Amino acid sequence: MQYGYRCDDCESVLFPTTTRAELRWLQDRVHVAREVAKHSSTGLDSWMMDGLNFLEEHQGHSIVLVSRR
Ligand SMILES: [Zn+2]
Repeated sequence: MQYGYRCDDCESVLFPTTTRAELRWLQDRVHVAREVAKHSSTGLDSWMMDGLNFLEEHQGHSIVLVSRR
């Protein structure tokens, strides 16, 4: 099972390679993750960068966690 984000407004989806719990964590802490990314020389894990970009791109839209097989 894969987990990802779906924007109800745009009907676009993203399935980063990570767990449901991690996606939930990131969704609740976009601002924290963005700060960490700014101050980290090595950058974030790629799933986190992808997720962050998606969440920021769809800021203010209704984003839900979805799953697929
Ligand atoms: Zn959107």
